[in-house]
Amino acid sequence: MTHRTVIIGSGFGGLFASKALKGVETDITLIAKTTTHLFQPLLYQVATGVLSEGEIAPTTREILRRQKNVGVLLGLVENVDLEQRKVYWRFHDSRHETEYDSLIVAAGAGQSFFGNDHFATYAPGMKTIDDALELRARILKAFEMAEFLEGEDRRRALTFVVVGAGPTGVEMAGQIRELAAATLAKEFRNYDPRDARVILVDAVDQVLPAFGESLGKETERKLEKLGVEVRLGAFVTDVTDAGVTLKFKDGREEHIESFCKVWAAGVQGNELGRTLAEQSGAELDRAGRVVVNEDLTIPGHPEVFVIGDLMSFPGVPGVAQGAIQSAKHVAKTIAADVEGKPRPGPFKYRDRGSMATIAKFSAVVKVGKFEITGFIAWVMWLFLHLLYIAGFKQRVTTLLSWALTFISNGRSQRVVTNQQLIGRLAIARLGKGSSAKLMRGEPPQED
Ligand SMILES: Cc1cc2nc3c(=O)[nH]c(=O)nc-3n(C[C@H](O)[C@H](O)[C@H](O)COP(=O)(O)OP(=O)(O)OC[C@H]3O[C@@H](n4cnc5c(N)ncnc54)[C@H](O)[C@@H]3O)c2cc1C
Repeated sequence: MTHRTVIIGSGFGGLFASKALKGVETDITLIAKTTTHLFQPLLYQVATGVLSEGEIAPTTREILRRQKNVGVLLGLVENVDLEQRKVYWRFHDSRHETEYDSLIVAAGAGQSFFGNDHFATYAPGMKTIDDALELRARILKAFEMAEFLEGEDRRRALTFVVVGAGPTGVEMAGQIRELAAATLAKEFRNYDPRDARVILVDAVDQVLPAFGESLGKETERKLEKLGVEVRLGAFVTDVTDAGVTLKFKDGREEHIESFCKVWAAGVQGNELGRTLAEQSGAELDRAGRVVVNEDLTIPGHPEVFVIGDLMSFPGVPGVAQGAIQSAKHVAKTIAADVEGKPRPGPFKYRDRGSMATIAKFSAVVKVGKFEITGFIAWVMWLFLHLLYIAGFKQRVTTLLSWALTFISNGRSQRVVTNQQLIGRLAIARLGKGSSAKLMRGEPPQED
């Protein structure tokens, strides 16, 4: 019987593992809960109207259409039985199981609200297309509201708080400011969008902590020049409909009145990590990621690999390169198993550097000891992002959308709907099972 590989997830880990197994004598089943391969680094551009969701999320099935040894299934994996070597998954309420000889778990990580999950009601995270579209609706509708509000209410509508000063928070804050100051500048009659406040908040003492002190300082300076207010050393103690409360290290408190909040801080390993840990005795780190062996397997299971954002491996950050390189490594291991050859040695991560954009024509790049800022860094950012977007069509349309935005400040993806705004919370209210009923044409019921 042909060797069977199951891959959970179609992010960087799952997709690159599938591709790296091309030509290997194994039947691959890739199971993911979305139909697409999402390029998370550009989610903030979907949220701020630069790109459409299709540009950063091509269909996995289409990307892999020519690779004959891969089958793609849309399904939510609920459990893995390590003893029986089975993956249990469902498509709405239709339940299935798939057997494997090798298993690659690339289920990624979600947002952590550091034990305050209720903050998510008012401050959505930034991990999925749904998150980005919800944020787009919240951001653009706040500007719409300001057109008819007055005084304090208008001020509240025009105050945006972004929590988390890592690359996502910096990019979001920069983009909301550019949206206000450039794209929307002349479109409203009753107020000037350039008055919008964007406040970037973090508990740590510098922006972009992973980029080192000097790039952090440089980024902070550029953000402030752009009009972003930066609050560092500030813990978020509460998030409500009305705003965000901060407590500073010196005990000072500040309440910021704001309708539109963005949560771009903290990651939490996918819940499948717990299932694997409970059955194998693997440890979970503080962020709920699976501590893997040096060959990326879990204890007692040389046939089960955890890669990407869900793995905890010394020196590997939760970035695309971590997922891509770990995916290629486990693919080599599986190929060796299939061919009856010795496995490659331990996984070694090569740091290819980090980059973040601050604004149009301005970015920071850190590669080893090299630190680059400004226009050259921005060109490098542009080139690399274009290279890693999957799909030729997506690359072409992304390039066109960027040309439009960079030359004219226009943004062609400014559609917002009420579904975007309330979908997440409405689905939570309807409860489990409602989507399966809708699929069958039945009315959904509340739990
Ligand atoms: C907003 C944002 C910006 C980022 N910017 C950068 C950047 O600039 N540079 C960089 O290098 N990295 C960046 N990253 C990090 C990078 O995107 C991740 O490190 C990378 O996506 C990890 O890949 P992964 O395959 O491990 O996980 P993911 O890409 O998260 O993929 C997980 C996959 O698993 C699927 N899945 C999850 N649970 C289940 C389940 N139960 N059943 C079935 N399928 C499931 C998901 O649908 C998805 O397909 C960013 C991340 C975010 C969120």
